[in-house]
Amino acid sequence: MSMISGNLQQVHQRMAQACALAGRPASAVQLLAVSKTFGPEAVLAAVAAGQRAFGENYVQEGVDKVLALRQAGHTDLEWHCIGPVQSNKTRLVATHFDWVQSVDRLKTAQRLSEQRPAALPTLQVCLQVNVDGGANKSGVPPQDAAALALAVAGLPRLRLRGVMAIPEPAPDAATAREVLGRVRALFDALNGLGLGLDTVSMGMSDDLEAAVACGSTMVRVGRAVFGARGQV
Ligand SMILES: *Cc1c(COP(=O)(O)O)cnc(C)c1O
Repeated sequence: MSMISGNLQQVHQRMAQACALAGRPASAVQLLAVSKTFGPEAVLAAVAAGQRAFGENYVQEGVDKVLALRQAGHTDLEWHCIGPVQSNKTRLVATHFDWVQSVDRLKTAQRLSEQRPAALPTLQVCLQVNVDGGANKSGVPPQDAAALALAVAGLPRLRLRGVMAIPEPAPDAATAREVLGRVRALFDALNGLGLGLDTVSMGMSDDLEAAVACGSTMVRVGRAVFGARGQV
């Protein structure tokens, strides 16, 4: 068994245990394998172990991997852009990814919708929300989230699925849960607008249990699947 295959098994066990503790079915939480900085061979190993959804932070690196995997015959994978999307990268994202989780302004969403090729299904979108941060941080502030969600939901080539958050490391477990709970509460409030959302993307290698306890439906796990990353 490859290291990645064993790691995936362990991560699924952690997720299942966290779901059981929270009284949620194991099917309530999906695993996004974050393959940033790892090559196509690492993704192939994860695919061989049954993983289908992959997250990438850096647009060009992600596109190179999407194309490499497609070339290798893997046309059925789901690729999520989870990093910052500059205006000059929206076309690449709209052309090659299935999901974008890091939309935090209408301008970006409008470009993605305009540039999404007609031959492809709608682009699945999460709003990145900033529930704990300073003004310089990525993510829409909670008080602006409803207006942005309604505007994004109205764009023809996008489908709004939910929210994504990257909380700062918290000083203690109680604070961490309080912040994760705020993300879930914001999702519930947006869904109260009748948007039909289904995705709360939060939780990484070190905090996936807490995220599942607080209502995550998608954990984004890098190091616990692929191993330590080099400095980039
Ligand atoms: C790198 C990254 C992850 C994965 O983090 P790990 O600590 O390696 O699990 C998840 N989400 C985002 C947005 C990331 O940039």
